[in-house]
Amino acid sequence: MPGKRCIIPVPRARAVFLILALTAMLIGAGVFLFMRGRGEKTYVPPNLPDEGSLDRYDLVLRLNDGDHTVSITETIRFTNRTGQTLSTIVLRTWLNAFSSEETSPAALEAIYDACYPNGFSPGGLTIFDVNWQGAPVPWEYGNADKTALSLAIPPLQDGESGEIYLRCVAAIPNCAYRLGYVGQDYQLGNLIPLLSRYENGAWRTDLYSPIGDPFVSDCADFDVSLYLPQGFAACGSAVPEQDASGVWRFHIRGARDFCFCLSPAWETARGAAGGVTVTAHAGTKAGAKRALDDGIRALETLNRLYGPYPYPSLTLCCVDFPFSGMEYPGLCMLGEPLFAQDKADTLELTVAHETAHQWFYGLVGSDQANAPWQDEALCEYAMLRYVKERYGQGSFETLKFYRVDSPMRENIPGSLTPGSPIDYFSDLETYRTVVYGRGAALLLALDDLLPEGTDAFLKAYAARFSYGYASREQFEAFLNQYAGMDLRPLLLDYVDTVL
Ligand SMILES: [Zn+2]
Repeated sequence: MPGKRCIIPVPRARAVFLILALTAMLIGAGVFLFMRGRGEKTYVPPNLPDEGSLDRYDLVLRLNDGDHTVSITETIRFTNRTGQTLSTIVLRTWLNAFSSEETSPAALEAIYDACYPNGFSPGGLTIFDVNWQGAPVPWEYGNADKTALSLAIPPLQDGESGEIYLRCVAAIPNCAYRLGYVGQDYQLGNLIPLLSRYENGAWRTDLYSPIGDPFVSDCADFDVSLYLPQGFAACGSAVPEQDASGVWRFHIRGARDFCFCLSPAWETARGAAGGVTVTAHAGTKAGAKRALDDGIRALETLNRLYGPYPYPSLTLCCVDFPFSGMEYPGLCMLGEPLFAQDKADTLELTVAHETAHQWFYGLVGSDQANAPWQDEALCEYAMLRYVKERYGQGSFETLKFYRVDSPMRENIPGSLTPGSPIDYFSDLETYRTVVYGRGAALLLALDDLLPEGTDAFLKAYAARFSYGYASREQFEAFLNQYAGMDLRPLLLDYVDTVL
């Protein structure tokens, strides 16, 4: 019938449409489940500051592998939260320290040959544009190693905002360090010009001391677009997504820095812990798997002990440098020698220590230059606690003997204490012994003293100062308040007394 013939095609069209729609939904659900299965996009860290309440970085980065440079276009939406009127803003330009042997942290005698196997290789920034609110502003380097770039801006009242625009090219040194390239791999820690921290009426302008980590910054949000030559892969403080045009895009909130590594030759292992994506990159599949397993175990244990992990992802990346590990928000660099089969134990301890930094450095910032014990000793203690949880009291006691008891007995020349600033130290071993080992003794002493132990205190400390900053004085005040007694004499004894 004409009527029916007329009607029939419509349901058919509907049916086809419905089938197509259902298919699309199923594919969508499949992709969603697949991504959930990989642990992606499922974890929103609690206590994240509100969107828009932090400074914001928009970065466009482009690697030129031919001449080992990265072009950087950076826009920073900055709000004056200092309580004072500002006429300068300071950015940390750590790469510039690599411009000469006199200022390079990698030129320390004990590590020089390991860092510069092909001889000294300079790195540094060439700056083309420095704008404030769309107009060029005068700028200068405020310290000897050119790591503090000072912008002169019109008076900015407390609470007011503005936009910094910076265009520069970074020459990457051929250097086996946390900032450099080795062979075809790039490890790019502290590459991005970063807002310094304003405190006590001035911007921090610490020099790039070769021992310890001189980096002090506040949490911010980062959006990064990275252009790479064909064949390269990237990892960083967030899990990148490649868009249709091949650009690598990263997004992380509440981070003190943005770090990334590049390689054309990684093996990758990926998993999840409590909704957090965990990824490991190494030279071999077995190495990546080992680091991944260690990362998942560390994250699960520390999450339980110290409260929620602060980012959606944790990435562990094997790099060529003469250290065991180095922490950045959402990313830990791990030294290549630890990936040897017979170094599996050391790798596991290093992963635990570096992962603990995601709480003590990442979530809670502190003065790493003047009070390095406040993150290093806490992470060393957290590593010991990880061992106790995973392997029991016996293993904990054995490791405590080597990592804490022995450092307490060692004969250290001079008047160094765990409370010494990083630039008091001239060799890495002594720094480790005093700040990590002897510093961790404080946390063990507190464990005997506090009714609920050190873990409960550190969990409360992480919650209280999450995405913020705790000075030494604030640490002490919070501890006294938490304990309900004056523990300053104990801190003086462990942190500031020469043994
Ligand atoms: Zn550390």
